[in-house]
Amino acid sequence: MFKRLLTSVSICFLYHLSFCQPVDNAAVLARRQVPVLCYHQIRNWRPSDKQVDKDYIIPPATFKAHMKLLADSGYHTILPDELYAYLTKGTPLPAKPIMLTFDDTDGDQWNIARPELMKYGFKGVYFIVFTNINKNKHYLSRRQIRQLSDEGNLIACHTQDHGNFKKLKGNDWEIQISTPKKKLELLTGKPVKYFAFPYGLWNSAGLPELHKRGFLAAFQLSDKRDPNDAMMTIRRLIDCGYWSNAKLDYNIKHDFGRPADQKLAKAKALAK
Ligand SMILES: [Zn+2]
Repeated sequence: MFKRLLTSVSICFLYHLSFCQPVDNAAVLARRQVPVLCYHQIRNWRPSDKQVDKDYIIPPATFKAHMKLLADSGYHTILPDELYAYLTKGTPLPAKPIMLTFDDTDGDQWNIARPELMKYGFKGVYFIVFTNINKNKHYLSRRQIRQLSDEGNLIACHTQDHGNFKKLKGNDWEIQISTPKKKLELLTGKPVKYFAFPYGLWNSAGLPELHKRGFLAAFQLSDKRDPNDAMMTIRRLIDCGYWSNAKLDYNIKHDFGRPADQKLAKAKALAK
C-alpha cells in the first residue's frame, strides 16, 4: 500500500516536473508549426446544407481519400503531449508530423474516422462537448469515448455545451471548463490537459483561466496566435469538405509549412 502510494506520488512529481515548468513563449513562437487538421461531421451533403456548412461537413469518400493521401505522403500522426514537448522543449518529432483533431462528439467520428485512422496506424484527438455525449444516435456514447481513449487516442475538452469562450464569466468557468474536464477524467481514467475553443473563438483575457485549471495547451482555428501565450492559441486548419487532395496538400504545406509568426518571434528576441 505504502509502495503504491509512493509510486503514485513519484508519478505526480515527475508529471509536474516535466509539464509544469515555465514556458518560453518566444521559443515556442520561433519553432516551426506542426499542421493540425480539424474535423466535425463526416457525412454526405444534404440539399439543405449551405455552402458555409460544407466547411464543417466532409463527405466520407473525401475524408477517406485525404487520410490515404496523408499516409501515402509519409505523415505520422502525433498527439498533444508530443506537440507540447516539441514546442516547449524542442523534443524531436517523427518525420512529417501532423495532428488530426475531431470536434463536437459526432458519431461519424466513430463510424467513419476510427476505422480509417486504424487502417493507417493513425491516432486522433477528440474534443468532446460534454452534453453531446449519448445525446442521440448521431453522437458518441460514453462507451465509445472510453474505447477511443483505451485505443491510444486522446480525449480532450471542448466545454460543457459549446459555450462561447469569449463570453464566459463568473461561475461559467466552473460549468464550462472545470466540470467537463473532471467528468472526462472520470470517464477515461486519464488527465485531461488540452482544450479547444468552440467556434475557434478566444480572447487573451480568458487564457489565464485555462492555465489556472491545469490545461497545458489550447487549440483555436486559423487566427494569429496570441503573441504572449502561443501554447494556448495553437492553430488548426479545417479540412473542408470540398477540398481536393491537391488543395489539402497545398494548404498543409503553405499554412503550416513555415513559422507564420516568425517575424514576431524575431522582433521579440531582438527586444530582449
Ligand atoms: Zn465545436
